[in-house]
Amino acid sequence: MAELIDGKLVAARLREEIRRKSESLKASGRAPGLAVILVGEDPASQVYVKNKEKACAEVGFYSEKYLLPESTSEEELTSLIKKLNADGNIDGILVQSPVPKHIDYSKIVDTIDPSKDVDAFSPVNVGKIMLGTYSLAPCTPAGIIELIKSTGTDISGKNCVVIGRSNIVGKPMAMLLMHENGTVTVCHSKTKDLKAITSNADILVSSVGKAGFLTADMVKPGAVVIDVGMNRDANGKLTGDAVFDEVSRVASFITPVPGGVGPMTITMLLKNTLTARKLHSR
Ligand code: NAP
Repeated sequence: MAELIDGKLVAARLREEIRRKSESLKASGRAPGLAVILVGEDPASQVYVKNKEKACAEVGFYSEKYLLPESTSEEELTSLIKKLNADGNIDGILVQSPVPKHIDYSKIVDTIDPSKDVDAFSPVNVGKIMLGTYSLAPCTPAGIIELIKSTGTDISGKNCVVIGRSNIVGKPMAMLLMHENGTVTVCHSKTKDLKAITSNADILVSSVGKAGFLTADMVKPGAVVIDVGMNRDANGKLTGDAVFDEVSRVASFITPVPGGVGPMTITMLLKNTLTARKLHSR
């Protein structure tokens, strides 16, 4: 039976470390500062923004929240970002996605000063991730690396399979695993004989977004399984990609949903804001 990878526990330990570092930065001048911008009234985004504000308060960060109406123009949003780029109290800027359709999200991300792009979504930071010269790591994949390491697994030389090739999870996940010297295969909807590939994985990351997708016959006995999926079942219950009961009988470690990858994502955002604060003190 697989051991559970407790994302809440790993996140809590990291947040305590971040809180201590933030306290000492504050004592010697200024706490890290994060600005979160939400355009429109998407209820899920409102919850995410509130959680980010709460997380900042818990680790002693300075934070600013901008709740802008749906009618906000691209120019108005761009000019707010430029103002925050120049603000010495702000180290990280995050524009909650999705943005309304009349706003070009990639243009907005490109306006954020790369040293304040704590989501690490801008072309400059994506390029640095590719080159392995990054300071700001993409939050969900970076959190997953922490979770894998928390099991005591050495990624070096392991067969790592990532299912999914999105810009926010699959692709950066593959790059980070490669930087850890994993041998990485990326699968997607056009992959032929997926099972033959996944059943050879020592570390298997599923980021498909389909409940019941990952079954036990796709998993190598003893594999570390990371379930990134966040899906709702017929009863509205949050569930991952894996058929948890059967996959956990085959894997050595597995992340639950909820309580696995999710708690790490905001934690890595805090970590990036702390890193950005250090970049700005040079
Ligand atoms: P996405 O952009 O929809 O990407 C899904 C990927 O799965 C695509 O690359 C797609 O392939 C692939 N795929 C779909 N059907 C497949 C199949 N039958 N066989 C193999 N691959 C298949 O989703 P995402 O943004 O990466 O997110 C994935 C999941 O993770 C979602 O449930 C999301 O909610 C969750 N998530 C969780 C967190 C967290 O903090 N816990 C953060 C981010 C995302 P193609 O490219 O060929 O279409």
